[in-house]
Amino acid sequence: MNGRSIDSSPARWSTHDFDSLPSELFIGGAWMPSASGKRIDVINPSTEKTITSVADATVEEGIAAVTAAANAARAWAATSPRQRSEILRKAFELMKARLDWFAELISLENGKALSDARGEAAYAAEFFRWYAEEAVRIVGDVALAPSGANRMLVQYQPVGISVLVTPWNFPAAMATRKIGPALAAGCTCVLKPATETPLTAYAMAALLQEAGVPPGVVNVVTTSTAGKVVGAMLHDPRVRKLSFTGSTEVGRVLLRQAADQVINCSMELGGNAPFIVFDDADIDAAVEGAMVAKMRNGGEACTAANRFYVQRGAAEHFSAALTAKMSALRVGNGCAAETQLGPLVNSESRDKVVELVADAIAKGGRVLTGGKAPVRDGYFYLPSVIVDVADDSRLLDEEIFGPIAAIVVFDSEQEAIDKANRTEYGLVAYVYTKDLARGLRVSEVLESGMIGLNRGLVSDPAAPFGGVKQSGLGREGGHHGLLEFMEAKYIATSW
Ligand code: NAP
Repeated sequence: MNGRSIDSSPARWSTHDFDSLPSELFIGGAWMPSASGKRIDVINPSTEKTITSVADATVEEGIAAVTAAANAARAWAATSPRQRSEILRKAFELMKARLDWFAELISLENGKALSDARGEAAYAAEFFRWYAEEAVRIVGDVALAPSGANRMLVQYQPVGISVLVTPWNFPAAMATRKIGPALAAGCTCVLKPATETPLTAYAMAALLQEAGVPPGVVNVVTTSTAGKVVGAMLHDPRVRKLSFTGSTEVGRVLLRQAADQVINCSMELGGNAPFIVFDDADIDAAVEGAMVAKMRNGGEACTAANRFYVQRGAAEHFSAALTAKMSALRVGNGCAAETQLGPLVNSESRDKVVELVADAIAKGGRVLTGGKAPVRDGYFYLPSVIVDVADDSRLLDEEIFGPIAAIVVFDSEQEAIDKANRTEYGLVAYVYTKDLARGLRVSEVLESGMIGLNRGLVSDPAAPFGGVKQSGLGREGGHHGLLEFMEAKYIATSW
């Protein structure tokens, strides 16, 4: 393969000059076109127009990226924690200085409103800062065995070559949430970003190169044949780690493949978050929280409130106030400054929302606002509130991934808990009540990895993010996120 280097300084790129954005495979510190000669078009969901295209990697190129990561592994694992920390800190500084630039790029290829994209870019940069700090906090244990016969030393070591697979909904943050801890732990990696949003991943690769990440430590490949390329990587004996964020459906496929080589897996999968509002809640605060929990990222978030359970006494007030806020949102091109809600990422996502809403209406749901896709270019759907949603509606069972708030009324605390837990998912749940004892009691029995108690936002680089049940395995963020890229080595000794 003939690698070529590019000038990665941001002055050389413009989000309006697409030909100058990095778009070739990033392997071993060099940018290289795919031998396939094929390209993947990148579409702006706000306009349905092609922005540019990126290289379409073959299986051999996926394996070449693993080889580059393997060649760099020993030297990277041997760097001092301080060195790794300073490189990550530099990445944080560079990204912080370019938040607006990243935001525009994210918005262009994902469609989300610039305000959401700015929020994501800042959140993404924070993972570099947090893991710069964690890199120098890798501590082990020394203990005396219970029998007194020997000492037990426990040391943490990098798990090894890591394959990172990310979705399109947070193209920057899902990448840094994996690259940050992988690099801090001393692992080298191959990132396979989503086909819809490859440009942010390549821009990140160039930024990391500029921050001083040595060749081969981070490699990025885009492909239209994810199943084949990732499958081949997971069957390469040099790969020891899979960190995946995406749908539960694909997660199950990857877990089966990872089983063949008993690869260490971290899986951040889908969600179906309940949002419970008790009669005694501060309803204005609950509506504010609902807008964040539902509409952050236009509803395209694994943490998105999917099902609103509102106690009978608060139902009318809550539904009316939420409808007023939702119907006031300005819908438009994600990159326009005044836009509050951009389009969905592609036509399949929009069509799925259309189907789910039609199913809810057919089963008795009443539309208070929205309930349709506007006739215009771009994959838009209007912000919608639907009440009287029947228990067997698909809206309550499936991840909506769109701007639809489905409201169901409940009477007793136990009924709310039973309804909330009636799902295969368990990522996050939201609870609004002024009674702290009730809030904590309900939080304890909700089957989910995270709870927003009187809060519509849980994501924080310092917190362990992740789900129970079929929402995943392992945690990202916080110290837990670092340990996902490390193995405990136990040394028994006597002195
Ligand atoms: P997806 O379809 O599962 O895709 C995720 C990634 O997996 C993409 O890079 C995709 O590549 C790749 N992929 C698809 N099929 C594959 C296969 N057979 N083998 C290997 N890789 C494969 O998910 P998505 O639609 O991009 O993202 C939305 C989902 O992500 C939602 O379910 C959401 O809840 C979940 N999510 C979870 C979290 C969390 O932290 N729990 C965070 C964000 C999103 P292609 O793009 O080429 O198909």
